[in-house]
Amino acid sequence: MLSNESITSLRAKLSAGEITPVEIIDALEASIAEHDSTVAGYISHDFDAARAEAEQADLSLPLGGIPIAIKDNINVKGQALTCASKFLDGAFDSPYDATVITKLREAGAIPLGRTNLDEFAMGSTCSNSAIKPTNNPHDPTRVPGGSSGGSAAVIASNTAIAALGSDTGGSIRQPASHCGIVGLKPSYGRVSRYGLVAFASSLDQIGPMTKSVDDAALLLNAITGYDPADSTSLDDDNTDFTANIDQGVAGMKLGIPKEYFSESIDPAVKAVFDDAASKLKAAGAELVPISLPHTEYAVATYYIIAPAEASSNLSRFDGIRYGNRAENPENLIDLYRKSRAQGFGAEVKRRIILGTYVLSSGYYDAYYTKAQKVRTLIRKDFTDAFNEVDAIISPVAPTPAPKHGENADDPLQEYLADICTIAANLAGIPGISVPAGTTQSDSGSTLPIGLQILGPDLGEAAILRIAKAVENS
Ligand code: GLN
Repeated sequence: MLSNESITSLRAKLSAGEITPVEIIDALEASIAEHDSTVAGYISHDFDAARAEAEQADLSLPLGGIPIAIKDNINVKGQALTCASKFLDGAFDSPYDATVITKLREAGAIPLGRTNLDEFAMGSTCSNSAIKPTNNPHDPTRVPGGSSGGSAAVIASNTAIAALGSDTGGSIRQPASHCGIVGLKPSYGRVSRYGLVAFASSLDQIGPMTKSVDDAALLLNAITGYDPADSTSLDDDNTDFTANIDQGVAGMKLGIPKEYFSESIDPAVKAVFDDAASKLKAAGAELVPISLPHTEYAVATYYIIAPAEASSNLSRFDGIRYGNRAENPENLIDLYRKSRAQGFGAEVKRRIILGTYVLSSGYYDAYYTKAQKVRTLIRKDFTDAFNEVDAIISPVAPTPAPKHGENADDPLQEYLADICTIAANLAGIPGISVPAGTTQSDSGSTLPIGLQILGPDLGEAAILRIAKAVENS
């Protein structure tokens, strides 16, 4: 089945003339028909449009003829965009391509299918999707993680070859870990955010989600680079992320932060981490115990800054300019109020209320300014650590994929599970989740567990190289 293959293997077959791009689309359509009723990873797809593009595909380009699934918070011109919110569902078509989509097209790739997410990317389970929940392909009684849970699930169920996700506090890496695929959050500014529906603009990054580390490097090559439409985008250093990927880890120093191993870490996650670490050591890396002393404040800091930015960003959803509008308003304020009350789900409302509170006069300094100061300390922890080590290794999430409904009534418990991933967003550094092992659940299913590798600013090439060593071990 072509749908089971990676970008790398399909590219080889396309170049050799053994297959055509249309055959890949056909294989995906068949695989989606077979599996997506169980997994429910897609919100929408347009096979005819993809087939028309596949017929024109330029196979000399790096991703020529490769279909890529797109998280449904990234604009693709002419396609419906929902952000898994009732606010937009059925009421918004993208008027333009996000820069990452333009870049994918320039590299020859074909956007195919919109993947499910937590509403406006707020959550860790996909259960906050106002459209439907997504199931973990390894065990449908469990969540795929989130917020890019749809992207992770469609790759793991071989109903996509690769996908784009977005990561504000772990939303690429955590579902990648729960679904057993590779997920990379690039350095802040490495990939343009133009056309990504903003959640928390100082934290958001788009990144690749793939079946292999090589594929992540190929996809990253295609989407990076300076974009005048995103004022935070960085100058392109023209790194070819595939170039040194096979050089191994001999001589590399890998930091193990003691604060990432609290008692909340599940023994199975710890066992997979220990096994991966000892394999990296056997491959020639030096393991160095380190400290990131402000880690304990990361969750609190994130859940002030991210909601503050979200409350501002989501003010554009007013019932006037975007999406659904409430009927029979009494006046303009009532129109705003009703449209927002009807359009947003509970988690989104919680974030808007929290964010508005921490930004309000009288509380701004006590919460928002203080959080910004702690953010600087968290970033300094990493700067200090990267003076000593080349990269940092840790678990991605404290547990394997939870069951549907676990923590449903306890948002704080769910927020605490972001402990290993959010500091990277606060610091702006790159991170990758690579499959490192599995555990058996009580019901006998086999659940994947990832290893997280964090690198210094613009250190994607190094973390990909370490991830490749883990993949090969
Ligand atoms: N789980 C985190 C949150 O709910 C991260 C989400 C994300 O990275 N988009 O905010």
